[in-house]
Amino acid sequence: MRPRPALLAVLTSLAAAALATSSAVAAPAPSADNAKTVVAATDTDGDSLPDAWETNGYDANGDGVVDVDLPAMGANPKKKDLFVEMDYMSGRLASTAALDRIVQVFASAPVSNPDGTTGVKIHLDAGAARSAAYNLGGGNQVTYDADLNPSASQTNAIKAANFAAVRKAVFHYMIWGDSYDGGCSSGQAFNIPNDTFIVTVGPKCAWNATDDTNVGTFVHELGHNIGLKHGGTDNLNYKPNYLSVMNYSFQLGGVLKSDGTKYWGYSNVQPTSINEARPDETVGLGSLGAGYKTSWKCPNGSTRTTAGAANQPIDWNCDGDTTDTTTAADINGDKTTSILIAQNNWANIVFGGGAVGGGTTPRTKTPASELQEITHDEWVSLQHK
Ligand SMILES: [Zn+2]
Repeated sequence: MRPRPALLAVLTSLAAAALATSSAVAAPAPSADNAKTVVAATDTDGDSLPDAWETNGYDANGDGVVDVDLPAMGANPKKKDLFVEMDYMSGRLASTAALDRIVQVFASAPVSNPDGTTGVKIHLDAGAARSAAYNLGGGNQVTYDADLNPSASQTNAIKAANFAAVRKAVFHYMIWGDSYDGGCSSGQAFNIPNDTFIVTVGPKCAWNATDDTNVGTFVHELGHNIGLKHGGTDNLNYKPNYLSVMNYSFQLGGVLKSDGTKYWGYSNVQPTSINEARPDETVGLGSLGAGYKTSWKCPNGSTRTTAGAANQPIDWNCDGDTTDTTTAADINGDKTTSILIAQNNWANIVFGGGAVGGGTTPRTKTPASELQEITHDEWVSLQHK
């Protein structure tokens, strides 16, 4: 059963307000299984990792011994840091080139920091499997399981056996796996926001994963962990004005740019909404579309992509002209006519999902229906444009 949208909106805005009005986060409770706020701690950069942890290291059990040496790992109390431990099944760990691209997506983010820089510093820990830059001593290979089924309990079991418990307030945890729950879904994040996810573009479903597939899916699933949804403010997929890898149109192939390159990150401006009751073909995506192509759905269910920049006229209803201004069109293919409201993702990142940051911020439970991921068949269908 889905929560009522109005209630969800209130809860979401309350959570956002709590995050926006204070840079203080709570230190973790010593033992309670569902820890709530104990002591507020200063967090200058707002990444949910208190300054004291980032300056002196994190002492998980309060015994005076640092358990996670954050400064040695490159944390900075004046720059947003994200830590991710990556375990992997044989043959599934992304290449160094792919990891470099993931780092660059976050480094180039339009997010300001107290030290005057922009960007988020993501720290990826593959253990000894890749270069020293990706070795924080945690990642390791795990037993090959072609089908994590049921995915949540099996992922949690692997996590319990391979992820140091003292890291849970600092690191997100993920597995480069093969597939799960007997299907061909590309990944899973289990909740929004959260601290755990899996990337499952493996051989069982013949994904033939490339660096693109791995980068796009990793950034997408981590996006859920840091609060992002398939539609921005909601879970409506395939919005042409949502230029983000969180949109299935762009998860596996990147956000298309009119110069032929691709963008593998999250949306970075507040998009203009599109009213499907009367979308204006003559303006396309307006200024949002400058420099970008976009994809949309035709009435027959097929997917189209603009030939050039999406600030030019777009044939939203696929009737052969770009002059309609009052004709309804189901542009995102969800069989309803609604107002497509997207989001500036980077302005709405939630640091501290799940146990990260101490696990002290109450979270809403995301309905399972909104955590289904794009499958191999859906991806193949998107490529027949
Ligand atoms: Zn998703």
